[in-house]
Amino acid sequence: MDGATRRAGALCGTRRLRHPVSAARRLLEEGRVLALAAGVEDRLGAAGEERMDPAWFITAERAAQLETARAAGRTLLDHAGEAARAAGDDAGTVGAVARDAAGALAAATSTGGMTNKPAGRVGDSPVIGAGTWADSRSVAVSATGVGEAFLRTAFAHEVDARVRLAGQSLAEAVSAALEQVRGVGGEGGCVALDAAGAVLAFNSQGMYRAWVDPAAGRWGLAIFGETELEGGPMSELVA
Ligand code: ASP
Repeated sequence: MDGATRRAGALCGTRRLRHPVSAARRLLEEGRVLALAAGVEDRLGAAGEERMDPAWFITAERAAQLETARAAGRTLLDHAGEAARAAGDDAGTVGAVARDAAGALAAATSTGGMTNKPAGRVGDSPVIGAGTWADSRSVAVSATGVGEAFLRTAFAHEVDARVRLAGQSLAEAVSAALEQVRGVGGEGGCVALDAAGAVLAFNSQGMYRAWVDPAAGRWGLAIFGETELEGGPMSELVA
């Protein structure tokens, strides 16, 4: 989502697109907001989006995670809980928020969804206002967690509303919105950025996160509650 214009593009059910965020951006540029991938994958492919055989996306870790979740008869977050630990894997959804030199905010989210989800289920990530949101007047938000709870609480827009209309700080707004997620039985977190450039990452457990701060001239990364696990000058980053 582009917070300067509030144009947005999203896809659900992608099976072959290698770069779903870039494909979603094409939809944004066409003026479409949400599409079923089955209806647009071929057209986006013909327009230049790289397509892979669905088998290309399968990894041994994810296959093991799915088997564990199936055996337990449960639908699980791919980056939390027993299935993730059993598979030795606790990284999943990718979220990005950014602010450009002109102050425009943007957000993007890419996910495989929850492990062992029922066929046809759509989570929060492609739903604008639930898992993804950007409005340059207030915040950019990309969420991860139990999608149903983020949908039911209109999570990302709730953060926006609290900052823009209720005057809360980004930290207060994210914390209160996550409280609502927990209130309907969900768990998860987000990366969020406000118009002043403050970045936040919240999660119930660890959350792999990285950032670049052009004003400070530094990059950093963190996993759990620490503010920075590793970091360095931006000159270390290669294009
Ligand atoms: N929010 C995603 C979904 O519900 C899952 C995730 O963030 O891991 O599909």
